[in-house]
Amino acid sequence: MKRWLPVVLCLFALGACGRAPSQNVEFFVFGTLVSVQVPGEASEETDKVFAELSFAFQEMHRQWHAWEPGELGRVNAALEAGQAIQTTPHIETLIRRSQELERLSGGRFNPAIGALVALWGFHTSNYPVIGPPPRAAQIDRLLASRPSALDVHLGPEGVSSSNTSVQLDFGGIAKGYATDLGMDILRRHGIDNAVINAGGDTRIMGNNHGKPWRIAVSDPAGGVAGVVELGGDQAIFTSGNYARFREDASERYPHILDPRSGWPVSGIIAATVIAADGATADATATAVVVAGSEDWAAVARGMGVTAVLVINQEGAIEATPEMMAHFTPAPGRAVKVRESKGD
Ligand code: AMP
Ligand code: MG
Repeated sequence: MKRWLPVVLCLFALGACGRAPSQNVEFFVFGTLVSVQVPGEASEETDKVFAELSFAFQEMHRQWHAWEPGELGRVNAALEAGQAIQTTPHIETLIRRSQELERLSGGRFNPAIGALVALWGFHTSNYPVIGPPPRAAQIDRLLASRPSALDVHLGPEGVSSSNTSVQLDFGGIAKGYATDLGMDILRRHGIDNAVINAGGDTRIMGNNHGKPWRIAVSDPAGGVAGVVELGGDQAIFTSGNYARFREDASERYPHILDPRSGWPVSGIIAATVIAADGATADATATAVVVAGSEDWAAVARGMGVTAVLVINQEGAIEATPEMMAHFTPAPGRAVKVRESKGD
């Protein structure tokens, strides 16, 4: 528990440069720095809500961790043993949302492939992972059991699965759901304008002193690919397949896996999507990377998401008209616009 004690920085930023005041807090969870900004003057109430927020995020991190001991570990151990187990309402909600998003993505987003993610060595915080890929026979053995979140049953007896190969890994959705719950906490305290930035994945609410929130979209080649302007209740999430990978002498194997082949996907190296909630945005960004250069727009649309931007291995940007309504590319950066319906 001690390791997750919050690094709480309450800064009253009344800039000498004349910037409007805002309150900020930061904490390290989900392997990244989460920073929260609330426009307005400092108050005791903001201090209180920041402390609550920080505690809630540490709890979510601990309980939903895919490989450190915690609540999800208990659930996975029970599923592997073919037993039913009672768990938290949030984990039940994560399962339900995941089931829906897995179905809508045609299995491209699949949070039941924890064993496969572990086999690839991606249950780690230390990247790059060094070494050759797993043997094809090991991958095929895991695929043959066809783990799917749709195999998980939620009932009065708790969580259970008829398929003992299901190992839940919420790495592709947890951060998004956490930012949704973060906004719920802020709203409960009467805060209507805020941004929660979790290492580039951003959940916004309301506006920034009457202006839209401006969110930078990272360029895998370095720097910024452009800026998105957003207002209201929205999430903008990016899945990158360029920073976290395994490598041997000859090749790189990125950390997002195609659940249907068991192998990492390439093609799209970064996908940014806008959705009305963080969980949907997070899972959709992951599914869009898996979908690849041909199918990304159709797959996102199937998940109810039309504002999408992808960057391929050559560094070229493609985006839907719905994304272009918010996105301004960095100077000199070209964008090919593609209808979200498909070509
Ligand atoms: P994200 O950064 O949101 O794209 O999530 C990537 C993380 O989700 C990985 O580190 C894995 O833990 C997990 N993951 C990898 N591939 C998939 C997939 N196809 N569907 C769901 N989760 C995945
Ligand atoms: Mg994701």
